[in-house]
Amino acid sequence: MKHLIIFGAPGAGKGTQAEKISQQFNLRHLSTGQILREIVDKEILAIMNNGSLVSDDVINQIIKQKIEEDKNSYFVFDGYPRTLKQSKYLDKLIKPEEIILINLIVSSKEVIARLSLRKRNDDTEENIKRRLKIYHKNTKPILDYYKSTNRLYKINGEASVNDVFNRLKDLITN
Ligand code: AMP
Repeated sequence: MKHLIIFGAPGAGKGTQAEKISQQFNLRHLSTGQILREIVDKEILAIMNNGSLVSDDVINQIIKQKIEEDKNSYFVFDGYPRTLKQSKYLDKLIKPEEIILINLIVSSKEVIARLSLRKRNDDTEENIKRRLKIYHKNTKPILDYYKSTNRLYKINGEASVNDVFNRLKDLITN
């Protein structure tokens, strides 16, 4: 088994698939967005509600603590890493060869359609635009980094939830 990073744009289905995968393979699901929402800190909520990223240092410390709390588990990372700095930090916490990244590919058009239907507090039109812009700015360096270390996999995220799940299962077990 490996630690899995379920990667993709906001609305690509990372949360849904990460949850299903963690149950199927008995892994720990770590969603940084979920953890941040539970902290209920005013400053953090303000950053989230305007669609920006919380600082790498805050996020990295959260992840470090979660991994140290549960040293024997395998993790499914959902929403982390979101920057190259976070990717490199994760490689210091866990052996790089024990981590793979799976990119759920969904077109911008589909992502916008899905996010407009979702009713989360931070899913306003302005916010969606900013999150997608930030996502696109950070994506390429992250994907290049995992590609250059042979840890990059991709899946079409536009199929049904079950089809995407089945493809993920195949990828993980092969
Ligand atoms: P998510 O639930 O993954 O869409 O995350 C919701 C929001 O939490 C994002 O728009 C960011 O403001 C913040 N967030 C979640 N994960 C991270 C991360 N790894 N780095 C920085 N900010 C994050």
